[in-house]
Amino acid sequence: MEELQQTPALSVILFTGMQDVNTDQREILKRVHEELKSLYGTPRLHRRDFNEVMLRTILSQNTNDDLRDRAYLRLKRRFPRLEDLEKASVEEIVEVISVCGLARQKAQTIKNYLAWLRRKYGRLRPRGICDENTQSLLSELLSIKGVGEKTARVVLAFACGRDMFPVDTHIHRVLKRLGVIPSNASRELAHKLVPDLLPEGVSAALHLNLIRFGREICQSRKPRCASCPFSSFCPSFSA
Ligand code: SF4
Repeated sequence: MEELQQTPALSVILFTGMQDVNTDQREILKRVHEELKSLYGTPRLHRRDFNEVMLRTILSQNTNDDLRDRAYLRLKRRFPRLEDLEKASVEEIVEVISVCGLARQKAQTIKNYLAWLRRKYGRLRPRGICDENTQSLLSELLSIKGVGEKTARVVLAFACGRDMFPVDTHIHRVLKRLGVIPSNASRELAHKLVPDLLPEGVSAALHLNLIRFGREICQSRKPRCASCPFSSFCPSFSA
């Protein structure tokens, strides 16, 4: 089910960049957003602490929410202040977060992030960090080794309230199946293509609803197409 046929319209978009053909993809996303709002409601969005969002998102890579939360709680208990975490060695952090996998890589990214804060702001809880220009903050976050597009966009969307659309593994799969992006599009490419196709101001809500939809209906191994609100137009529908 992962693969779908690339529609001729989408080929044209990708290879010629014709704006009028993008309309199909925009309409699909608009409809998906409306249907998911009817199905799940509009998620409540609260601005969350920048450091907490960053640390949780780093820990969330390739694991589930439960293990991420357990790793985060262990981290907070062992290093109650960010200054304690800053002083800790990678090995000490690995030991604490090993429950969520990829521990060495995540521990190193945490260290890189704290070093970036210290270097750029001279402190670990900089005031006004979210006041910075969106693109320059995005570039800065992406310059931290180990911080990818999804993590940087999650932080901007949920800590700074910016209209940013992070593409996680569920969203990536669903958008490919729906024909919004090509079946062979990487997540990196999805991050470039999708923002131009979205209605303004819907990114965070659509992101959350698509993740829920991917977990509950358009599941990786066995999508529940018979219960899907998009079955009438999804090119990957399977009875
Ligand atoms: S019909 Fe729905 S559940 Fe099935 S592949 Fe398409 S989006 Fe996923």
